[in-house]
Amino acid sequence: MDYQEILDTIALELTTKQPRGNVATYIPELAKVSPQKFGMHLHCINSGHYCFGNSDEKFSIQSISKVFGLTLAMSLIHEDLFERVDVEPSGNPFNSLIQLEYENGIPRNPFINAGALVISDILISTLKSPKQEFLQFVQNITDNDTLKINVEVFESEKKCSYRNAALLHLMKSFGNITNDIEEVLDFYIYQCAIEMSCKELATAFMVYANRGAKLSSHEEVISPHKVKRINAIMQTCGFYDEAGEFSFRVGLPGKSGVGGGIAAIHPNQYAVTVWSPLLNPKGNSELGMYALERLTTLTGLSIF
Ligand code: GLN
Repeated sequence: MDYQEILDTIALELTTKQPRGNVATYIPELAKVSPQKFGMHLHCINSGHYCFGNSDEKFSIQSISKVFGLTLAMSLIHEDLFERVDVEPSGNPFNSLIQLEYENGIPRNPFINAGALVISDILISTLKSPKQEFLQFVQNITDNDTLKINVEVFESEKKCSYRNAALLHLMKSFGNITNDIEEVLDFYIYQCAIEMSCKELATAFMVYANRGAKLSSHEEVISPHKVKRINAIMQTCGFYDEAGEFSFRVGLPGKSGVGGGIAAIHPNQYAVTVWSPLLNPKGNSELGMYALERLTTLTGLSIF
């Protein structure tokens, strides 16, 4: 498979596409990112790297960090995490409060905000220095100990986290948050504020394409048995109320973030990432989804 030729075709097609969508503005710092940016990087299981555009430029990974949070929690905790967070698609926006009320404070899945806040609560109860250990975990799977958060994005989100605070208060009223609300919120926003390039994210996501092990060192980050479950949740819940559409059009497990990034994997084949800050009404990257749809169409391969 000539992946570079396929990516070059997608790059050419993108030049003819009319940019649509909006940059996220509810986190003021994200509104400053140029809507013109586009990067794509494919990391193949045979170690090949293929890319185009702004694939080496850092962006805010936002909700893509939810995959790392779940992975760290599942790698550390052996009793059933899934009593406090379910594994069903929500069919609702990522920051919705509605279901939580009538489902007794148990979030639908770990990849909506409520679910990731519960995972953050669990990590705070488990780790000595949650922020530091979380960052080290992401640095390790990326083979890059210079990764860090964007402090402006972190502070910007902290100033306007009303909905996430509301989700935490509601869940605490049901007994599903054990730590201090401010502490959980702070740790959650920290994870979202990590900055990575498409290349770095593709390297990190290789763990999910490679049965839970790093490609570089073969270190097992998470067992194949658990990574199978994480990939299943990415497939069914990785795109909020557009998870069905993403499965239909692209056909790969993946996760999006409001920074405009999407990371996806083809098990035993590749990890692929795209970044384009213009979001569709469901909060997923408009052109990013298009590029991934073209990738699985042009390669003729998806998990289906
Ligand atoms: N930090 C963002 C929030 O909590 C992440 C949302 C997202 O990327 N979908 O609202």
